[in-house]
Amino acid sequence: MPIELRILGRHQADEHDVGFTYSGVTFNQHNLHTFAGVNAVDTKEFLAQTFACLQSHGQVCARMGAYKPRTSPYSFQGLGKECLPWAFELAGKYGIKVISMEVTREAHVDEINEALHLTGKPTGVMLQIGTRNTQNFELLKAVGRQHEHPILLKRGFGITLDESLMAAEYCASEGNSQIIFGLRGMKTNFGDPHRNLVDFGHVPVVHRLTRMPVCVDPSHSVGARGASPEGILDVFHVAAQGVIAGANMLLVDMHPVPKKSLVDAAQAISLEELPYFLEDMGIAREAYEKRVALHQRVVAERAAAPAAAAASAKAA
Ligand code: PEP
Ligand code: MN
Repeated sequence: MPIELRILGRHQADEHDVGFTYSGVTFNQHNLHTFAGVNAVDTKEFLAQTFACLQSHGQVCARMGAYKPRTSPYSFQGLGKECLPWAFELAGKYGIKVISMEVTREAHVDEINEALHLTGKPTGVMLQIGTRNTQNFELLKAVGRQHEHPILLKRGFGITLDESLMAAEYCASEGNSQIIFGLRGMKTNFGDPHRNLVDFGHVPVVHRLTRMPVCVDPSHSVGARGASPEGILDVFHVAAQGVIAGANMLLVDMHPVPKKSLVDAAQAISLEELPYFLEDMGIAREAYEKRVALHQRVVAERAAAPAAAAASAKAA
């Protein structure tokens, strides 16, 4: 192992992965969960419509931002702690069990806990560390010290994979190893016209180097609603690329009126597109499972081949 991942590293190929169950949902390197939802909470109506849509399609996980780190100080910064009580209540009302929510400082974790306490814990929260904070070591240690919520650690968009994996190890070293590692594309013009250079080829690499489940965020990777000649959105294409390589979580921006989304409006899918997206990902997941079965068959055939050759040599 080139870097020292004492807790999260896969030191032997057959070492068990970091699986955990939180709020009734199990996360590991073998299954897949979709977290579609609003980039940033805006109105109660839009949030309720989003959760109702998720529920009607059997979804129990969602994404939802309240604290938004923005490039410009003049852009909408998220509704912050004020929206948490009603947003959590709405989540519970529509059967959402886990919400992925970005935190940018330790106080946000306290605010989330207060709101959950106040509302009687209607849902669970996965603490998301955004790409701009992947090396905010004090924040990493803070979310690692608490054992209440799991962590979604996004890869840093301008650092090496090893450096981002070390950031995950920072959280684990403080005691919380319930961590999902998120790929979200790298910041470089070489990815143009995509917002970021899609890095989902690293799904198997992270599976191999670590025991963490791996998330892919096609929305932040692609950043727009471009489509291929057959009409399939690039967001769908790259999401499928992540899933066919074994990704365990999808984080997808979705909004009842994408154009009205206050953050990253260009990349959101609509509620009408959710069932289509889920079915498409089901196809990709099935293809992944068939690929694993094919590999296992090939390995078994190769193992049996010398034995068969030896048997026929003996008979001759
Ligand atoms: C997000 O998921 O809302 C987000 C800001 O993502 P990233 O940190 O990857 O830019
Ligand atoms: Mn964003």
